[in-house]
Amino acid sequence: MPRIKGSHNAMKTGMLAAEQAFKALAAGRASDELVEYQAAFEKSWVAKELKVVRNAKPLLGKLGTFLGGAVGMFDMWCTHLTGGFSFFGTMKHDKTDAASTGLAKDYTPIVYPKPDGVISFDKLSSVFLSATNHEEDQPAHLTLKDPSIPISVNLPKYGEPARLYCPAGVYEVLYNEQGTDPRFQINAQNCVHCKTCDIKDPSQNIVWTTPEGGGGPNYPNM
Ligand code: SF4
Repeated sequence: MPRIKGSHNAMKTGMLAAEQAFKALAAGRASDELVEYQAAFEKSWVAKELKVVRNAKPLLGKLGTFLGGAVGMFDMWCTHLTGGFSFFGTMKHDKTDAASTGLAKDYTPIVYPKPDGVISFDKLSSVFLSATNHEEDQPAHLTLKDPSIPISVNLPKYGEPARLYCPAGVYEVLYNEQGTDPRFQINAQNCVHCKTCDIKDPSQNIVWTTPEGGGGPNYPNM
């Protein structure tokens, strides 16, 4: 969380996975579990970096932004200097992200300015830059355990947060011309695979599975 996005970790762990998969395939192992990947990860600088920052977010959650931030900084320096030791051990969160979702009635919606196309952009133009694509006829990689939950539970209770937290505008609540009869729409083609919906949905009703055949974001200009 204190690191910038973690893109470097995503690339390094992808490389570790590819190296271990290559070795396993070269040894004629095509279908067992790739346990060497976990071992390679634990020996890598990614694991060392993450160990140093492991208590940062739980401390913010328990002590608040200012005190939690100050104690977190202290903890990160101690952990960095001692090679992994923390006075707090390894802290846990009190509850899951899904269970932390507040009720819509307790909040006032934030009205953001419209994207100006210069320093701020709408979701769909950013999805376009990612060159996200999925084969049209592949099995759905985003499914609902109960299709009625988004409108019958999530909308009245939580304002259906999927339409807000999804960075790619995959989830929409659409209304008819009279502004009534809401329905939930999933634009799975736009999914950039952050997996937030699977983790954050307050009803734990959304199931994200790995799409078929390498579909997803491509980022050709990065
Ligand atoms: S995985 Fe991320 S991008 Fe895809 S639908 Fe879920 S929240 Fe949206």
